[in-house]
Amino acid sequence: MNLDFLKDRPLVANVSGGKDSTAMALFLMDLGLDFEPVFCDTGWEHEETYAYLDYLEKVVLKRPIRRLRNEKFFNTAEGGFQEMIKTKVFFPTGNIRTCTLTLKVTPQLEYMDEVRALHHKKPVSAVGIRRDESQARSTLDQFEEKDESTIWRPLIDWKVADVVAIHKRFNVAPNPLYTRGFSRVGCFPCIFSRKSEIKHAYHESPERFDLIRKLEQDVKQIAKDKGKKDAQYSFFKRGSVDDVLDWALKNDDQLELLEEEYLKVFSGEILTIACSDALKDSWQYPVSGKVLNNNILGQKSFMV
Ligand code: SF4
Repeated sequence: MNLDFLKDRPLVANVSGGKDSTAMALFLMDLGLDFEPVFCDTGWEHEETYAYLDYLEKVVLKRPIRRLRNEKFFNTAEGGFQEMIKTKVFFPTGNIRTCTLTLKVTPQLEYMDEVRALHHKKPVSAVGIRRDESQARSTLDQFEEKDESTIWRPLIDWKVADVVAIHKRFNVAPNPLYTRGFSRVGCFPCIFSRKSEIKHAYHESPERFDLIRKLEQDVKQIAKDKGKKDAQYSFFKRGSVDDVLDWALKNDDQLELLEEEYLKVFSGEILTIACSDALKDSWQYPVSGKVLNNNILGQKSFMV
């Protein structure tokens, strides 16, 4: 691989706690590159993702992962996603995706500006996106010039098998959420969760849905107090959290399959089912919440 484009430029690697960005960080290490891993914190990730990032930082990458966050929305104990929604009195929607823009894109761009000012060179921003992931990503290029950085997608032609293989080669466990049936890692849950993900997230962590219910009630009250009439009161676009749970917990496998197929075709975000199956098959080893809660660092049970 010709790496001339790096030419002493600062290299920043986006690490999310998911399998692809982990594979990318391993690949960069394998190439012997000096890079700084960064993670955009929405304050709404699964606790095991935060723990997994600690594991990556201390055991795997052996370098700090810089946590980037939009400090404007981290002033309370609920900091991040919940605080942003209450401040804006608005739940993100497909058309107005304030969560991604405010909590991920903004801190990332600000940090790139900082890196550029510090090094007097345009940084390279590595992301673990693969064409294979979705229809929307299938046409992406390996490089993309932006004002603040050059986007580099080193895994652009990788398949899931390559991702699994590099984890195995480095003896690195995946985020345990994969082996517990989740097909993607990120906000828990994401506002765009499909039916099966909502069902799965509810069985995994019903208290998270109490938080969502409280958030919906709070936003409704804040909107009333402020005389706002156009506020979006529900976390999921389909309706209130209780309506969505009623729908999601119904056993309607046929509809669920149809929905999965629909989302697979039309969503740029959702991984294929084959991908999560491949992960489960490939990563059979004892993982549970308890392993993480005890101490993930150097645990044998984390080894593939
Ligand atoms: S993962 Fe979902 S909820 Fe989180 S920032 Fe992205 S779109 Fe918003």
